[in-house]
Formats: sequence, C-alpha cells, structure tokens
Amino acid sequence: MRPAILFPLFAPVTSLPGLGPRLGKLAEKLAGPHVVDLLWHKPVGVVDRIQVPSIAEAPDGRHVVLTVRVDGHMPSLTPSRPYRIRCTDHTGSMDLVYFHIKGDWLEKKLPVGSKITVSGKAEYYNNHLQIAHPDHAAPADEGAPPSATEPTYPLTGGLNPKPLRTAIQAALTRAPQLPEWQDAAWLRARDWPDWHSALTRLHHPVDEADINPLGPVRQRLAFDELLANQLALVLVRAQQRKLSGRVTQGDGRMRAAVAAALPYRLTGAQERSLAEIYADMAEPSRMLRLLQGDVGSGKTIVALMCMLNAVETGAQAALMAPTEILARQHAETLAPLCQAAGVRMAVLTGRDKGKARAALLERLAAGEIDILVGTHALFQEEVMFADLAIAVIDEQHKFGVHQRLQLAAKGRGVDTLVMTATPIPRTLTLTVYGDMDVSRLDEKPPGRQPVKTVVMHADRLEEVAGGLSRAIASGQRIYWVCPLVEESEQVDLAAATHRHATLVERLGDRVGLIHGKMKGPDKDKVMADFAEGRLDVLVATTVIEVGVNVPEATIMVIEHAERFGLAQLHQLRGRVGRGTGASTCLLLYYQPLGEVARQRLQVMKDTEDGFIIAEKDLELRGAGEMLGTKQSGIPEFRLADIAVHGELLAVARDDAKLIITRDPELETERGKALRTLLYLFERDAAVKYLRSG
Ligand code: ADP
Ligand code: MG
Repeated sequence: MRPAILFPLFAPVTSLPGLGPRLGKLAEKLAGPHVVDLLWHKPVGVVDRIQVPSIAEAPDGRHVVLTVRVDGHMPSLTPSRPYRIRCTDHTGSMDLVYFHIKGDWLEKKLPVGSKITVSGKAEYYNNHLQIAHPDHAAPADEGAPPSATEPTYPLTGGLNPKPLRTAIQAALTRAPQLPEWQDAAWLRARDWPDWHSALTRLHHPVDEADINPLGPVRQRLAFDELLANQLALVLVRAQQRKLSGRVTQGDGRMRAAVAAALPYRLTGAQERSLAEIYADMAEPSRMLRLLQGDVGSGKTIVALMCMLNAVETGAQAALMAPTEILARQHAETLAPLCQAAGVRMAVLTGRDKGKARAALLERLAAGEIDILVGTHALFQEEVMFADLAIAVIDEQHKFGVHQRLQLAAKGRGVDTLVMTATPIPRTLTLTVYGDMDVSRLDEKPPGRQPVKTVVMHADRLEEVAGGLSRAIASGQRIYWVCPLVEESEQVDLAAATHRHATLVERLGDRVGLIHGKMKGPDKDKVMADFAEGRLDVLVATTVIEVGVNVPEATIMVIEHAERFGLAQLHQLRGRVGRGTGASTCLLLYYQPLGEVARQRLQVMKDTEDGFIIAEKDLELRGAGEMLGTKQSGIPEFRLADIAVHGELLAVARDDAKLIITRDPELETERGKALRTLLYLFERDAAVKYLRSG
C-alpha cells in the first residue's frame, strides 16, 4: 500500500487551486491525473526579468520590470487593431498593447494618472517601446511585483501559463520532505541536492542551469526515476529467481530430425545462441533470456530447436506471437519441420471457437499436443497444459512484463525465451528488460543481398508505377505500404483503398489489399495469395509490419515515408531482401519534409544495420518517442531523458543490484526510503514482491 506521506501527491489535479473541471481536464491531458504529475511537468525555459529604472533604459528583447504612469487608454477602433495604454515617465513614453480584448476592465484596473508596475518583453517599433500582453500590470502599491525569474512550461491549447504555473506552485507546496533514498556518499560526490530542494529549484529556477538536463537538479531527479525503474526490474528478477525451475535436457533426436529436414545449415550466431539457451535450460533455475535478432536473422528456427529440447523430455512448449497473422505464419513454417520430427503441433488464437477449440484444449491438457502456437489467447484461464516447460514469446515489446509472467505460471518451473526483432539500443534494453540475459543473432543467414534503398519525391509516383509493371513482368513481387495517418484508421483505410484502386487500374487485377479492419480469414487469404504468387502486388497498411515472410517479395514501396519512424521503416524494409533475388526499397516522400524526417530517410539510405538505426532513432527523437512508446513497452520517463542520461542509467542498474544484494527485502533505513521511491514513481507492483510489501 502506498505510504500515507505520499497521499497528497496522488490526489487528483483538480484538487489544486484554480483547476476546476475544465482546466483540470487540460492539465490532466498535459501532465497526468495526479498532483505528482504536475511536479514532473518540467519547465522548458526560464524567464529572466530585469528591473529597469526608466523607460529609456529598457533593453530591446529583454523581459523587464518597470514602474510608469498611465497617461491614457486608446481602445481599438477595429477588431484587427490592438487596445493600447499609453504610459510615461520622466524619460519618455511607451505603450502596453493588448489584442482582441475589450478594455473596460483595464480602464478600471489601471486608471489614468495612476502609478503602475508592468512586466513583459520589451520591444521597439519605430523607436517606441511597447510591451504586448504584459505578464504583470497592476497599481505599483498593490501586490508583489513578479519575481526576477520564472519558469515557462510546455502548454496545451486552452490552458494559459498563469493558471498552470499557479497549479504547479501549489503542487509544490504539497510535496513533503521525504527520507533520503540515495546513497549519501554518491550525492556528495555528485554535489546533488536532496529531492525536495531539487524539485523546488526545478520549479523556481534561478538560472538556466536549474532546468538544464545536465545540471545537478535535473540529474538528481532523473537519477531518482531511473533508480526506481531499475530497482523495480531487479525485484521482479529476484522474485523469478526465487521460484524453482527445472532441469531440461532433451536427448536431441527430434532436433536431429529437424536439422536433417532443413534446407540450410544454422549460422554461427544461431548455434551460439542455442548453446546459451540449452545451457540455461539445463540449469535447475528458471531461464529468462532475450533473443535479439534483426528481421530475417532466423529467430524462428532457434525458437523451434529450444522448444524441441523440452518436447524431447516429454514436456510441452508454447510459442506466442503478437498477432493472428504471425501466429498462423509461425505455425505454417513449423508444420513441415514438426512433422519431420514427429511432433504434434497446434494453433490457438482468438478466432478458434466452439467445439474445435474445446477439443484442442482437451488434447492440450491431456498432453497430446507438444507445441502450442498462438496469440495472447494462450493467456486465457481455460488454456491448461499437461506439463509446460518452456514459453517462447515473439515480439515481446507488444506484451508487458506481467503477461510474460502469466504464461510462465501455466507450468512448473517454466523457462522463458523472449524474442525481439526490434533493435533496441543497449541503453534502452536495460530500461525494458533490466538484467535479462541476452543472446544476439548478429549474423544474417548467408546468401542475403543488400536491399537497395532509394529516396524519392512522390511526384515521381507515376514513374514508379511504370517501373513496377516491368518488375512484375520479370516475376517479382511487390509490397506497397500506404500512409499511416495518426489516430484515424478510417483515413488510413481510405488512402490504402484509393491506392489499391489506382494500382489495379494500372497493373491489372493481380493487386491485393490488406488492412487492419479486415476479418482474420480474409487477411489470411490475401496473405496466402501473395505468398503463393497468385497476387503480384500487396497494398497494405502497416499490418504487414512484423514478421511476415515472403522470400519472393523483392520490392517494397513506402508511401509517405516521411511519416514513419525509423524503427518502423526498418521493420518494413526487412520484409524484402529475404530471398536470393536483389531487392529494392523505395521511400516516397511528400513535402513539406522536416529536418528530422529528412535525416531519417538519409539514415535509411546509409545503413541496413538495425542497431545503428536504433541508435540514430534514439538520437533523433529521444527515447520517449522512440518506436512509439505506447506499444514499445519502453517506460515513459518523465524526468530522465535516456538520450542524455544514458550514463546514469548504467549507474542506477549497478546501484539497484547492490541494494538488493545487501538489503533484499528493503528493510534497512535506506531500504524503507527506497520503498517510498518506488511508490513515488508508481512501481507499486514491484513492492508486492517484497516479504512485507
Ligand atoms: P526472423 O524471425 O528472425 O525475422 P525468420 O526466422 O523468419 O527470421 O527467418 C527468415 C528467413 O531466413 C526464413 O525464410 C528462414 O527459413 C531463413 N533462415 C533462417 N535461418 C537460416 C540459415 N541458417 N540459413 C539460411 N536461411 C535461414
Ligand atoms: Mg520472426
């Protein structure tokens, strides 16, 4: 349970002064639902105001505070003209300028002849000073003049700086003094402030250093967040270690049969990864291993081999994919190999219903199915294995850590292998997987040819379509991926449907269409038609993004390539260049092409190495946005920026390990403070793994 000391921070934002239902909703959209979320809302700048003694001494472009006398009000005559207040002092005159307002209240608040204090950005027009929409304008003897420095925050439409700042300041007053959870020596060495002081400085910045990601304030707060993240992962891991595992060591007969049936030999990287996996499985503890391999690196056969290692002992194995299409494709790939080895394999997805499903579940529970391939339907309660020994999870980033544990709970001492094709930079691997053991398929199967990547403006689309008919005539197969328009599947679909129609018109009826709204069997049919050569062109929304394997496809056209992230472009390009034919990827872009988009396309042209691309992606977009945070499973950090604080992440990992070694149940003074830290960053689930959690 969350400690009482944190209650005020987890009150709703609407409990803050000035945030009623309307503004509260906006604040929630901007920062999050709780008071603490406003504390994590970082300033992006500092307004640095200077006191100037007179109008003549106000420097152009600076934020100034000065005292003047109101000389007259000049209401706007037309809506496009601003309302002006002429002010003077002994050195000259200046104007306060307001657009789109009625000035009645101003005339009352700032009557002619009165002395007022004003603050805002000094600007000169025709040598005449003016301040547009001053952030402060009030009688000189009334209220405190604005402070010398003030933070500026990212905003959202409808929420003005002032109420937001007021709410954040109020949130700050609710922040309690918390016991120190960081190591005292480390804090001293870094010269970092305590948590409360850091937070106070962040929202009362004195200068730019207070909001700079590399300054002590931001570093301290970032490190807190990273430590919470790493500590949570270490706790989950420690919990898994406590669970007993099983020794799995097959006799190799099924694997030998499969190897004999394979038309190729395993690569060195595949052999090495398998040796690592077999070694883990032979240990009496539970395996928790990540198999990282770029698209096309040959993860599927590795998955099969380690599942067979378990099946050879009479146990069962499960392979879970993130989508229906992928589950079916895995099953199709594995079927002939399983047959060669005399292994009974079945598929279970959300689409399987009724009697057939019941019969399948019965066979599974009776141990008459050796390998079950499926989607997250495998999590369902009715799915019971006779003796599950290993769970292989493909494309894990689409699933959460907890789902992983759920599947493992369906057997006794289940080993888990997680496979990912998403090249995640080393730094980020840590934030998602913590200390998981990693095997890397860093060598592609032989015979692959590099994919030639061409970036061109979409006004050459006609030319491209012409080129396609030549390619089709020579027997090539083509993917055409249509623009992804955010948040509107409807629009996505319209674009893809339209492109499909124009391509049919040009190239004939061997052009198929596949999209996310289609029913499962329809998708399968189109996919099969393309895979088996009854279609030459497959127009698709991004449903083909992961995993689909059609070695004969040699051309990938991506329309509106400027709208895709690097990771996505890389995944899509990985659909071609899988066979022996030379392949091409055409990236069609539309103007306007932003600088970041331009660089992304350049990176795609320059390299095919998924890990280099991932590092570039991190550099160009920052970790938060990378891969589309929502699906990626990469935690969204509020205070840390992995692109900047990568070094701190490694320290946090080491620190977390050390903490758990010395104080496994977090019972010491510091341990208790660390529990508070976990709650502060909403890692409540991790605390549950502690004895008195
Ligand atoms: P991934 O899942 O890692 O993207 P796959 O397992 O789908 O890759 O393999 C891609 C293709 O490479 C498949 O057609 C597979 O048969 C083939 N393949 C896998 N391993 C080898 C190998 N050692 N030699 C040749 N081809 C291989
Ligand atoms: Mg795969």
